[in-house]
Amino acid sequence: MRYHNITKDDMLNGEGLRAVLWVSGCNHYCKGCHNPVTWELSGGLPFDEGAKEELFDCLGKPYISGLTLSGGDPLHPENRADVEALLREVVELFPHKSVWLYTGYLWESVMRLPLMRYVDVVVDGEYIEGLKDPKLHWRGSSNQRIIDVPRSLLLGEAAQVPLEGEETADAPGQESSGGLQSTG
Ligand code: SF4
Repeated sequence: MRYHNITKDDMLNGEGLRAVLWVSGCNHYCKGCHNPVTWELSGGLPFDEGAKEELFDCLGKPYISGLTLSGGDPLHPENRADVEALLREVVELFPHKSVWLYTGYLWESVMRLPLMRYVDVVVDGEYIEGLKDPKLHWRGSSNQRIIDVPRSLLLGEAAQVPLEGEETADAPGQESSGGLQSTG
């Protein structure tokens, strides 16, 4: 896996102050994507032991609420095995920190991935420029859903995280995602 950046005190991509890993590789090509520089799998830098140490140092800080994976798409087929291995370590080492993951795929098409056992929240779906709304929390367009992963796996259907001041009804069916602020 390759990556573009590690953000160490991010407030825009999940709850609290977070470490964000911006991975390389996305095959959704959303119009208006904030991070087209991350689309190429071969872009950025190798996510090597040094990068992992940098990320873990950040996650070890008491004021960091957790890890967010964005990009790019952490669920690009070429990233899935490495993301699963990374999350297994993160959950072992930092069991009280939350894990958020942004993907351009819809929840229904990725919910059975084994790596979901390590994820607390998925923000799903492609970024749709026509549905952009700057008032939205943690996502770029209103089709994207903020999904409570453990609850959704239990229920067998998408359960959204309730948001203060926002409608939480399921968005109508659509291609959905998006990203250095996650648009997807
Ligand atoms: S918005 Fe997200 S899913 Fe869409 S092209 Fe950009 S990185 Fe990929």
